[in-house]
Amino acid sequence: MKIAGIQKLTLLDYPGKTACIIFTQGCNFKCGYCQNSSLIPLKGDELISEEEVIDYLKKRQNVLDGVVISGGEPTIQKDLKVFISKIKELGYLVKLDTNGTNNELLKELLDNHLLDYVAMDIKSTFNDYENIIKKKINVDSIKKSIKLLKETPIDHEFRTTIIKDIHDIDKILNICKFLGKEEKYYLQNFEQSEFVVDKKLESFTKEELIDIQKIINRDYPNVCVRGL
Ligand code: SF4
Repeated sequence: MKIAGIQKLTLLDYPGKTACIIFTQGCNFKCGYCQNSSLIPLKGDELISEEEVIDYLKKRQNVLDGVVISGGEPTIQKDLKVFISKIKELGYLVKLDTNGTNNELLKELLDNHLLDYVAMDIKSTFNDYENIIKKKINVDSIKKSIKLLKETPIDHEFRTTIIKDIHDIDKILNICKFLGKEEKYYLQNFEQSEFVVDKKLESFTKEELIDIQKIINRDYPNVCVRGL
């Protein structure tokens, strides 16, 4: 496992649970709005060893409920399944954050009861993906991951970081239509920061977010704009 960092406590990233976050190194996308751009290049140095993380988790067994595995993109790590098995053996709930490209590994993890919560990013409409991730992609992998999550009894959510220059109501409605009315779907406003590579990108204003929520909720009541 290439582990770039650990946040020792979060009350926000695993719904209803106290957790820590493990940030894996490397990603197969190159989103211009990425807040974790320092995690994207696959580096060999400055990494945290797996033993160090497991030792920390052993010490926190009676304090934390869960572990969030985030990134980067965790599913590009070859030994992710073994690593999660070790965390589950310590009795933790595990939440996986993923961009949904590795539907085969996602299925394996779900089938082996290694995940308790999955949060999957939907970058935009399928024909808009390459515009955002700046890479070629076969979106069938994304569609297969969505299907897997829609069919699993394991708790999950879909989410999109919405950016004023990229997303509009039509695109958001298009994604809602694909997900269906029953799914938990969160929209989170983009925030410009020192870590974001594309400095031209803009956030929606609070008023615009309120309007988006109102319009979307007419047909999709389960869609929520985070932070309103
Ligand atoms: S998928 Fe996530 S981690 Fe990877 S580049 Fe995009 S925003 Fe960053």
